[in-house]
Amino acid sequence: MEKVLFAHVDNPQQHRIETYLAAGGYQALPKILREYKPDDVIDLIKKSGLRGRGGAGFPAGMKWSFVPKTSPKPKYLCCNADESEPGTCKDRVLMESDPHLVVEGIIIAAYAIQAHQAFIYIRGEFVFPAARMEQAVEEAYARGYLGKNILGSGYDLDLVVHTGGGAYICGEETALLSSLEGDRGLSRIRPPFPAIEGLYGCPTVVNNVETLANVPLIVNRGVDWFRSHGTEKSPGTKIFSLSGNIKRPGNYEVDLGTPLSYIINELGGGVPDGRTLKAIIPGGSSTPLLLPHQIDTPLDFESVAQAGSMLGSGAIIVIDDGACMVWTAMKLINFYQHESCGKCTPCREGTAWLKQLINRIEDGNGRPGDIDLILDICGNIMGRTICPLGDAAVMPTESIIKLFRNEFEYHIEHKTCLVKTSYPLA
Ligand code: SF4
Repeated sequence: MEKVLFAHVDNPQQHRIETYLAAGGYQALPKILREYKPDDVIDLIKKSGLRGRGGAGFPAGMKWSFVPKTSPKPKYLCCNADESEPGTCKDRVLMESDPHLVVEGIIIAAYAIQAHQAFIYIRGEFVFPAARMEQAVEEAYARGYLGKNILGSGYDLDLVVHTGGGAYICGEETALLSSLEGDRGLSRIRPPFPAIEGLYGCPTVVNNVETLANVPLIVNRGVDWFRSHGTEKSPGTKIFSLSGNIKRPGNYEVDLGTPLSYIINELGGGVPDGRTLKAIIPGGSSTPLLLPHQIDTPLDFESVAQAGSMLGSGAIIVIDDGACMVWTAMKLINFYQHESCGKCTPCREGTAWLKQLINRIEDGNGRPGDIDLILDICGNIMGRTICPLGDAAVMPTESIIKLFRNEFEYHIEHKTCLVKTSYPLA
């Protein structure tokens, strides 16, 4: 299978501009500035069918087209590098190994929406990737790919690398914008959407790192080539982060639509010897679980949704039969409760309540009625919050209880773990 985004990931010098240029880098940008009007770039990306790789899968060209062309306000392009969904670690590798691919994508996207200021918002813990991106930005300025009158085109763009404080919520685009403005990273009620009223109240596009990295490749190799990968509705390749109970964890790039079984068994080597597959979180920790009989689900946005989950950010977490699902639910809810920004009541109070209930079941102090109470609280959070974090906390929790209710009942009744009882070495 052709590697596209990871074509040069194994070259230890790929982060330097000379190496990127030698491999055909910065050929898309002059072509765009010479031959394309901003609207033509938007049309090209629309035709490619490129969908956002950060989780929502929204068509990138469509997002760009929402920016009002006649607005007198400045426009902004933000690259969302706040990768923090548990299980997801693909943007980090792209930024470390091929940062100019991301920078070139940012410049083209900014040109398409006629932004003259762009930002890379990168999570604070990403010290090394941030250093790589800063070096790439410096090199791009020195070669005239950034700054005033880029390559003599008359187009100006400044690009700033901004590190966040390490809050999960800042990966949500409106919280990212609040943080970038210097405020607490709190989500905003939408509408208005960022394309109309984003950074400093101005039209803003927020795109994920992997989404933007696809842009120069589409310009260089064309829409037909891009569409030759993936499926009709989910074209292109995707980097999947594979983790959990798996022999060969890692980041793997495959065509969208590739069966989940290929990634888990062929690339990842399957679950450790002596274990059997119990469940799979297919798209990052906020997505509902799949069961072993669903392992041949094609990994594209539509097929995973049809199977009852979401492709999300493409983080596949493999769970084998040695894992207790009460413990798994506890780890997830503890994370989401900790990361709730507290702005809206259902999420702030609801996740805290869920944490209390699931922790006491795990600790052997669960009470009859706790499971139904958890489900009731989930129902009162879902769809009633300002940002998707509330839903993100509920979806795996509800899914785990629905699929493994017997383990919760066993914990409550016997004050111990069914899995540990069945597999003493787990
Ligand atoms: Fe904050 Fe949670 Fe409400 Fe999102 S859902 S705004 S994280 S309290």
